[in-house]
Amino acid sequence: MEVNLISDTATRPTPAMLEAMFAAPVGDDVFRQDPTVNRLEETAAHRFGMEAALFCPSGTMTNQLAIKCHTQPLDEVVCEEKSHIYQYEGGVYSLLSGVSMNLLHGERGKVLPGQVTTAVKPAYDWLPRTRLLVLENTCNKGGGSIYTHAEATAVVEEARQHGLAAHLDGARLFNALVETGESPAEWGQLFDSISICLSKGLGAPVGSLLLGTCELIDRARRYRKVFGGGMRQAGYLAAAGLYALDHHVERLRHDNQRARTLAATLVEQPYVASVETTESNICIFHLRHQSANDFLEVLKTEGILATPFGPRTVRFTTHLDVSEEQIAYVVERLQALAERLAEAPARG
Ligand SMILES: *Cc1c(COP(=O)(O)O)cnc(C)c1O
Repeated sequence: MEVNLISDTATRPTPAMLEAMFAAPVGDDVFRQDPTVNRLEETAAHRFGMEAALFCPSGTMTNQLAIKCHTQPLDEVVCEEKSHIYQYEGGVYSLLSGVSMNLLHGERGKVLPGQVTTAVKPAYDWLPRTRLLVLENTCNKGGGSIYTHAEATAVVEEARQHGLAAHLDGARLFNALVETGESPAEWGQLFDSISICLSKGLGAPVGSLLLGTCELIDRARRYRKVFGGGMRQAGYLAAAGLYALDHHVERLRHDNQRARTLAATLVEQPYVASVETTESNICIFHLRHQSANDFLEVLKTEGILATPFGPRTVRFTTHLDVSEEQIAYVVERLQALAERLAEAPARG
């Protein structure tokens, strides 16, 4: 058996999703004449109670378009230090927007109340101008941690008091919403812009959406074009996104539950030092003696693939293409590993 726990980006379109893609009416989206892209953007905007949406090739692009639209060069962006926009987007905010980052040391990737106020800089010529707050829900590097709407509201309201705009990197927002029972519209009300990924747990092959006001989305569309993200018959891809929004949201609760099953198994293993609180579809754990790479080599011989997330840290991610049977198999192999590792003590 092969089980891919590397990332929820590994999902491939289901036969039904592929059928929807093949059947999509398409046009030239740069001329805004692709009916399927238009329908996806309208559907998503409506669901979040926001004015407009923009279909983009990646979540990096939707996040960076948001930063571009909310800031001027020499501004700074406030975010938690584990944020995707800081860690995993190549530092491109400096290139595309000419801004710097003001990093907060929060908890499991989450900003804590009071931190924004401390971070905002006074208006001196020699200081960057603090302009934008970015939150991430769920927080990837924070172990898939979830902000409740109340927690996010407290932080965003603090930012508003200082005149900051607020953007949500909601790459896996739906993984959080199926846990909290909150609605997308509640989150749409809170932020000036939201980015969601269709290509993660939702199972579409490509695509992210930026949501915001008509004014913001019009400006973002222009930047998308000049950054090289204008796509033509993108309706084939948008159809996958529409299919995902209609059919793959509720099932995310299974992914979350399966990650918690893995966490519960790991915490009992003698070779595991600790397992981070697992709230959604990401499970991060720390090994007692072995390096992450050695451990992953052993797992690979069992057909289980995962990601190193530090010298002794490993990340498991569950998704659409990891079944209940596969989880049962991983649980059984993780338990068997305790014996195997006891017989052959770890190198280094
Ligand atoms: C995956 C991800 C993104 C976007 O990544 P792309 O690979 O550019 O689509 C943004 N934020 C978070 C938290 C992510 O996990």
